[in-house]
Amino acid sequence: MRRFFVAGNWKMNNTIGEAKALMAAMTPDLEAIDNVDKAVAPSYLAVPAIAELCKGTGIKVGAQNLFWEESGAYTGEVAPAMVAEVCDFVIVGHSERRKFFGETDETVNQRLKAALAAGLHVILCIGETLEENEAGQTEAVVTRQLVKGLEGFTETQAADITIAYEPVWAIGTGRAATPEDANSVHKDVIRPLLRQQFGEARAELMRIQYGGSIKPDNAAELFAMSDIDGGLVGGASLKADSFVAIVKAAAMVAIVEQESKK
Ligand code: PEP
Repeated sequence: MRRFFVAGNWKMNNTIGEAKALMAAMTPDLEAIDNVDKAVAPSYLAVPAIAELCKGTGIKVGAQNLFWEESGAYTGEVAPAMVAEVCDFVIVGHSERRKFFGETDETVNQRLKAALAAGLHVILCIGETLEENEAGQTEAVVTRQLVKGLEGFTETQAADITIAYEPVWAIGTGRAATPEDANSVHKDVIRPLLRQQFGEARAELMRIQYGGSIKPDNAAELFAMSDIDGGLVGGASLKADSFVAIVKAAAMVAIVEQESKK
C-alpha cells in the first residue's frame, strides 16, 4: 500500500502568532489521519513554535531552506545543525529560490549534502519553467536538475530524499498540470532516473510529490495516478480546511488502492 507524503509550504507567510493559529486549527483533523505522512514548513522564525505544537502529533515540521556551511561569517544564513535542532526535514531547490535567490543545481546539491549529513530528510524540488515547457524541454530540464541535484548520493542516503516535481508555471497560478501530464513526468522521467542511480527497490520506495496549484478539488485525481505519491502544497496549505481536505484526499486514495488489491 502506498503511503502518501503531503507537505505544506507556507513560504513567506504568517507571523508567529498567525502560524500558531493556523497550526492549532488544522492539528486535530491532521492527527486523526494516520495513513498519510503529513508535514508543514513554516518560515524560520515560526519553526520552533510550530515544532512545539506538533510534538507528539506525528506531524513533521520542516524549514524552507538551509545553508551548507557549519557556522561562521554568513550573515542571514541558517546552518544545517541549527535546522536539524528543531526540524525533521528541509525543502531544497524550490523554484522561488532558484528564481529569486540565484539557486543553481550545484548549490542545491551542496545544500542537500549538508542537510543529509545533519540527519534531515530532504524534499528536493525540480521543475521546468513555462518557456522550457513550451519549447519541449521538460524532460531535459527535469533530468538535468535531478541528476545534478542528486550527484554523489548513495542508495542508503536516498531513503531520506523525497522528490517534488513542481512545474514552475503551475506554482501559485491556479493552473495545475493535468494528472496525466504530471504522472508521465514522474513515471517516465523521474522514476527511471532514480532507478538508474539507486536501484529498482529504492526507486520504488522513494516518494515523488507533485506541486503546483494542488487544491481540494484536484487533489484526489492527482494522487490517484500511479507515480504521484503525495504533494507539496503552497497556497492551499495556508488555510486549515483546504490543507486538511488535501490530506484527506490522499488518505482516501490510499484506502481505495488498498481495497482494490484485496
Ligand atoms: C509550492 O510552493 O511549492 C507550491 C506548489 O505552491 P502552490 O500550491 O501555491 O502552487
